[in-house]
Amino acid sequence: MKTISLIWRNRLAAFGGIVIAFVILIALAAPILPLADPNATNPANRLIPPFTPGAWLGTDHLGRDLLARLVWGTRLSLAVGIAAAVIAAAIGSTLGIVSGFFGGRTDNLIMRGVDMLMAFPYILLALAIVAALGPGLVNALYAVAIVNVPFFARNIRGVTVSLAHREFVDAARLSGMSNFRIIASEILPNVLPVIVIAMSTTIGWMILETAGLSFLGLGSQPPQADLGSMLGEGRKLLINAPHASIVPGAMIFLIVMSVNLLGDGIRDALDPRLRSGALSRPAAATTVKIDGGGQDNTVARDGSTLLTVSNLQTQFHVGPRTYRAVDGVDLAVRPGECLGLIGESGSGKSVTALSLMRLVASPPGVITGGKVDIDGKDTLTMPGEGLRKLRGGRVSYIFQDPLATLHPLYSIGDQMVEAIRAHRTVPRQEAWDHSVSLLTRVRIPNAAARAKSYPHELSGGMRQRVGIALALANDPDLIIADEPTTALDVTVQAQVLALLDELRRERDLALVFITHDFGVVGQLCDRVAVMYAGRIVETGPTAEVLESPAHPYTKRLIECVPELGEGRRKLAAIPGLPPPVDDLPPGCAFAPRCPKAQDECRRGIIPLEPAANRAVRCLFPEEVSA
Ligand code: ADP
Ligand code: MG
Repeated sequence: MKTISLIWRNRLAAFGGIVIAFVILIALAAPILPLADPNATNPANRLIPPFTPGAWLGTDHLGRDLLARLVWGTRLSLAVGIAAAVIAAAIGSTLGIVSGFFGGRTDNLIMRGVDMLMAFPYILLALAIVAALGPGLVNALYAVAIVNVPFFARNIRGVTVSLAHREFVDAARLSGMSNFRIIASEILPNVLPVIVIAMSTTIGWMILETAGLSFLGLGSQPPQADLGSMLGEGRKLLINAPHASIVPGAMIFLIVMSVNLLGDGIRDALDPRLRSGALSRPAAATTVKIDGGGQDNTVARDGSTLLTVSNLQTQFHVGPRTYRAVDGVDLAVRPGECLGLIGESGSGKSVTALSLMRLVASPPGVITGGKVDIDGKDTLTMPGEGLRKLRGGRVSYIFQDPLATLHPLYSIGDQMVEAIRAHRTVPRQEAWDHSVSLLTRVRIPNAAARAKSYPHELSGGMRQRVGIALALANDPDLIIADEPTTALDVTVQAQVLALLDELRRERDLALVFITHDFGVVGQLCDRVAVMYAGRIVETGPTAEVLESPAHPYTKRLIECVPELGEGRRKLAAIPGLPPPVDDLPPGCAFAPRCPKAQDECRRGIIPLEPAANRAVRCLFPEEVSA
């Protein structure tokens, strides 16, 4: 149902669907329509032009009614084209599934046979088959079907191979199912959408091929006529009576075009990767659309900060919805300082971090306001080349899952060399030596040998060390670490945090450290900014905020951290969920979950009130001890 409405929403596909449905309806109704006999010749009425009463599309060189011939010819062409597609899909998919599922020698045998078919030029092979079988519509149908078998076999084999060793197939095997049942109940349902897609995109092509064979006189034989043979007959009279070829030609065009439009629509609707926009390549830098100029975003830069973010707004525009993932964030980081950015999952931490270097995927991401100042330059107005130099150069990132960010097919040393040489022209050997020294620095034992390992050969902790070494590759001033320790177990996490802290002091690195764990912030960060629903609700020096949080949300977050030796304390979870950022409540976004919320909290905009070296966005903040 969802698929149909998706196809329907695609205007071109809907148009194609309507046209082809109309054509099929007429073709099906041919026997009951008040049409003249398509094969009755009448030499007295030869080549009557169209729009003559009694012969609306005119007549051909034997005086046969073209309208009747068109309807019956369409019927024949559609039937043959569709039948050929079904036969090709059935044979090809069976071969593909068998070959992909059993693999080994079976696969080799079938695929080499298919390769042989593919080695001949398409049309030549079809011609040869018809020549061998003798002309005739049924033989043309076989020829077109056979020629298209390899297309299905190859496609479906590829999909089956990737399915044949998946866990659910192994599970089915363990439960004692026979091969046939596994194919029928596990494999087939998964490849069916692919078969339908392949069919919908090739049916038009097959109708065209059948028409081609008939046009050459190898398909339908007189007096029976399909669109192709009508075109062939009309061709001889192209100058004197163009309508005789235009009528079938236009119909072939209409059918093939509408089938292809519909087929593309079906493919887009059925292919989940296309639906989620996998083919729409995101731009190299997030789109920036800041309107309402004149509004002054500048935050006083006192010259001592390395990174100053003011009023950053990042949204996702998905269909009619606007997700305000980041809604007016201000941050400042000095050289050598560690700023913790903390909040529940979905509070906008990652989007904030990615927005700084304009790495949010666009579409759907759009930066709609603010300034990101690095050393006096605004990255939001910077040209692409400048951004490219900054990324991985002065500003680098560490992500949560190094297995997903490291390339599986290159050794870690090679990846580091690549990162270094993307920014500096140094000889390969020098870059390699530098990589090894960095790997040693992040305490990878036996780094010279390890540099030749692949990511999958390392443990999680090792991989994250490689991630850190990669971030250090070009001697950055600022590292943005997005939950770098969340995927690690506690002991490894402690080691990695200690390493980051050490590196930061040693190199005077600024660090923006994203986490959802106040324990981690306490270990590492000088200052902390607490995020909720895309806004910063509290910021201040870590020790002070931990000691006496001002925002009720911060207080609740801190209470969620377990402490050793306090076994009897009940851990307080925060009831409820963060609000969806496409539908934020007015006033304080935390109000619905806040025990202290009053009516005022649910109205208007609540500002981030500065107080001494802290700031809090709350009308009724907690008592702050001096
Ligand atoms: P976290 O704080 O856990 O890192 P994120 O910054 O990843 O959270 O996400 C912030 C918000 O942005 C989430 O509520 C999420 O729904 C929204 N969001 C992120 N990516 C997209 C996207 N591609 N399309 C729509 N919304 C998104
Ligand atoms: Mg995140």
